[in-house]
Amino acid sequence: MGISTLSSNQSCFNPLGEPKTTLIDNARIVLSSRGPIDTVSILVAERRILAIGDKVEIRRKYGAWEEIIDARNCLAIPGFVNNHSHIAMALLRGLAEDLPLLNWLRDKIWPIEERLKPWQIEIGAALGAAESLLSGTTCVTSIYFYDPGGSEASAIEKTGLRGWIAHGVFDWMEEKGLRLTQELVAHFHGKDAGRIRIATSPHSPYSCSPDVLRKIEALRGKLNQKFGARYPILNTIHVAEARTEAHEIKTRYNVDASRGILKYLNSLGVLNSDTICAHCIHLTEDDYIALGETGASIASCPISNLKVGCGVADLPRIISHGTVLSLGTDGAASNNSLDMFETAKVASLLAKGLKGDTTQMSSKRTFSIATEGGAKSLHQDREFGSLFEGAKADIVLLDLSKISAIPFHDPYNYILYSARSSNVRDVLVDGRSLVRDGELISVNLENLRNRISSAVSEIATDD
Ligand SMILES: [Zn+2]
Repeated sequence: MGISTLSSNQSCFNPLGEPKTTLIDNARIVLSSRGPIDTVSILVAERRILAIGDKVEIRRKYGAWEEIIDARNCLAIPGFVNNHSHIAMALLRGLAEDLPLLNWLRDKIWPIEERLKPWQIEIGAALGAAESLLSGTTCVTSIYFYDPGGSEASAIEKTGLRGWIAHGVFDWMEEKGLRLTQELVAHFHGKDAGRIRIATSPHSPYSCSPDVLRKIEALRGKLNQKFGARYPILNTIHVAEARTEAHEIKTRYNVDASRGILKYLNSLGVLNSDTICAHCIHLTEDDYIALGETGASIASCPISNLKVGCGVADLPRIISHGTVLSLGTDGAASNNSLDMFETAKVASLLAKGLKGDTTQMSSKRTFSIATEGGAKSLHQDREFGSLFEGAKADIVLLDLSKISAIPFHDPYNYILYSARSSNVRDVLVDGRSLVRDGELISVNLENLRNRISSAVSEIATDD
């Protein structure tokens, strides 16, 4: 990668600066962890919510603030946690559609991914981060390919988004994958006061042998001896997405996973409460036992699952089982957006349709899964995922003057069933203002558009 590429790439980002003391003034409603509170202000200081209360009281107790955001006709909510994505794949959005899953992957996506350059991954991730922020997502769990020259981690760090980031490891790059995971941890884990975290990530039980799965878990154990006390390193993996996974595992590794993929992972000793399992569509009775025994969590991606024809996860059953459930968009190539409003709505509607029961996945429950559920899955529900004094200031303001908010009755029903990402007006992550009046602050969109067009024409020429 040439120096000129690096410098023009960096111009997609505006300097982040330090978080400021900010008053979110007079919000019409704050959706706090204790429920909705009318006509109230939020003081943000040192990256956290210092106070939720009356403005005059706040000033008397805490003194002045550096910035003020007028929130008179806004609903303040915790930001969404998109707990499974590959945000750099925003670059491949719309590239190929309506193909059978394996043709789509083998003929279109994987050959391009093999040739992607680090700067292309970084700007793809910048596009994904920009889309996430503009649609009210404040934290992503994202897995892609790490390179020190440009990566999802470097883009997420520069955009101000909160991220749990991993390098996806496959059999074919076992040694390199383990090395890159360690490099990623060394360069990024815990950066910016813990806003950036790294996870380990074997891609799946059908693309990683039992030996590779165990090696990755052993590496995680070793890394946690060093980092675990302050910033534990979690593990994330695709599980039971396709119907044919047990068959693939048998064919490739000659091991029997027919009683359930989670059961199989548990038998290898690689499933535990630090494991975030993406998808989990095709679960067996034994899988539910494995979930109960280990406390592993699930990140369901309903839109991607529908789009690639993999099926519908039984979220009501997962919830009634007591498993920690969160939601994700998956990559934009299989969605095609990173919009958690859409994802939460589809998750709720599918559950109602699946069970023939409108009471399944109520608006309040589903919103909690899309925010606090993600934070719980990351063991961070005491830090973010809901709005309370002391929480990290990951706050989204929705503009209630938009048509979809008129008339307005219940905040949860509005968010789940009628709000859309275009209702997002302001976004703070870790106390930093990253979207103001619908405009991104940390990303130069014009430069980013230019860089994306260069990348896309390069990809097309290579093809
Ligand atoms: Zn995925």
